This record gives sequence, C-alpha cells and structure tokens, in this order.
Amino acid sequence: MAWEVRSRNGIWLPQIEWHLDAHRPARRAIITHAHSDHVARHGEAICTSRTARLIAARGASPGQKVRNLDFNESVAITPMATAKLVPAGHVLGSAQVLIEHSDFGRLLYTGDFKTRPSRTVENCARPAADVLIMETTFARPHYVFPPAEKTMQRAIAFCRDTLAAGEIPVLLGYSLGRSQEILSHLAGAGLDIMLHPRVEAVTRVYEEIGYSFPSYTSLAPLMASGHVIIAPQQALKSELFEAISPIRTAVLTGWALDEQTHYRSRTDAAFPLSDHADYPELLAFVEAVQPQRIFTVHGFATEFAADLRSRGWDAWALGRTNQLELGF
Ligand SMILES: [Zn+2]
Repeated sequence: MAWEVRSRNGIWLPQIEWHLDAHRPARRAIITHAHSDHVARHGEAICTSRTARLIAARGASPGQKVRNLDFNESVAITPMATAKLVPAGHVLGSAQVLIEHSDFGRLLYTGDFKTRPSRTVENCARPAADVLIMETTFARPHYVFPPAEKTMQRAIAFCRDTLAAGEIPVLLGYSLGRSQEILSHLAGAGLDIMLHPRVEAVTRVYEEIGYSFPSYTSLAPLMASGHVIIAPQQALKSELFEAISPIRTAVLTGWALDEQTHYRSRTDAAFPLSDHADYPELLAFVEAVQPQRIFTVHGFATEFAADLRSRGWDAWALGRTNQLELGF
C-alpha cells in the first residue's frame, strides 16, 4: 500500500480525504502559511497558531472549524493518520506538514520553504519521510542566493544614493515575510523608515509575538521625503503613492538573479532576497529527508524531477506535465 498524491485544489490526498494548501474552499484542508494564495475559508482547517493570527490580521478566515496547532504538536486527522506541523522557514508561522499513516508510512509536504536561517522566521526542520512532496520554485542550478546580509548592504547603498540625490527610495517586497526581513536588516543603518499600512499591520503581529525591529512610522505621503519606504509592489499603483515623488524603486526577490528582472518588474533596481529555497538547498533537503518517492510542485517541477531521477531518486512532477512524462 502506497500513498496516493494528486494535484487538485492544492494537494489532494484521496486516501485520507484531506487537502494541503487548497486555494479554493475545501471540506478539510491544512494551511501551511498565511500567504493569500494558500488561504481559503474551508469547512475544517488546521494551521499553526501564528498563521491563524496572521490570517486574521489580514482580514481573512481559514475556516468554519479551525484547529490551531503549535509546532510539533500531533493531531489525529483520521482514525489511521496523524498530522504534525513542523517549521518551514518561509515566513513567520509557516509549516511543513508531516503525516504518519499506519499503513502508508510518513509523508512530508514542504509547502513553501527555505532552509537558510533568517532573522524573522523559525528555523526549517528536516524530518525523515517515505514520501516527500516539495515546492521547486527556484529549482534550476543558477539559482544560488547570496547571503541576505550582502544583498541588504547593496539595498542600503541604493537607499543612501537615492536620498543623496534628493529622491525617495522605495523597497518593494511581499507585505508578509519579505518586508519584515528587509526591515530587520535596516537596523543600525541610520535610515528613517516608513511602512505601507499593509506591511505595518503584519509587522505588528511579528512584534506581538516577540520579534523586534528598528523604529518606523506609518507611511505619510506628504512627509515621505528623507525616508525609506517599504511597501508591497502592487501598492505602487495605488492612490497613496500619487503624492509621493520623486521616487526610485527596488524590488527584493529571488528572481533578481535573472537579468532583466528590474525591467520586467518596472523598477529601477532588483536585489536577490527570497523566502524560498535555492537549488543547492533543494538538493540538500532531499538528501536530509531520504524519501523513497518524491513529488515536485511549482516552478521548475518537471525539470527538477528529471534532475533528481538522474541522481537516482524516484521523483515525479505533480500535475498535468507528469502524465506526459509518464507517457500516459
Ligand atoms: Zn508563500
């Protein structure tokens, strides 16, 4: 008897009738973290207490019946299976799902994850499992992220140059996770910082949980001159930004390792800061988990599964491409 794994509204495990990271409302789903593409209002939902707080702070709800777990706390999800959430190192509260079934063995689903330690996230766990379902967003050999300190030194230099030129530097990153990491790295840089309201709301939750940051104020467009602004990228098009000029923008994203990223994102600069695992981390993670079978999802899933097979692993991409690969 082996685990059955399908790509349907997130990951669907038909034998136990639970979804993982369903993006549409499902009867029963485990939510790995609070990024909006992983959250929907389910019948029954399981997530970490931290993720639940972040979902609430963003004005959403994980489900009608919600079970909040601490990391490593085990809960029965069927008479035959238990689930445990272990840290994923992606954003605050983010979890991998470890399911133990008395017939099928241990299944680990990484959700979005990163093994490099960072300032504002719990350290990623690497439990052993029989079946591994892993995200492969940056699963190509050229994605090797430089240390965050080095990247943020470049971002800080960009801010100083921009201020010296009489312009307002705007650092762009997701309001949950990336922004707090950016803010944390600005400590000691002697810059005056303003946060976009969406970034500020999430940062407050981090502070309530015990993380500390350099001081900041709320984004006030008419007072913005002389400040560094941290904002989500979509906010640039909002009314709030109409009164803020002249600005110089930098996006912080893993995609910055690809040339042209700042053209494509229509920003003045791009720096490689990511909350996902890079290629060497993905390979090292597989070695640590030692699974008998691997399923890949997101990004370069097909390519990475083939890469893993060439290294002797039993690995397959989940989804439609998989069927082509298997020759169905
Ligand atoms: Zn995410």
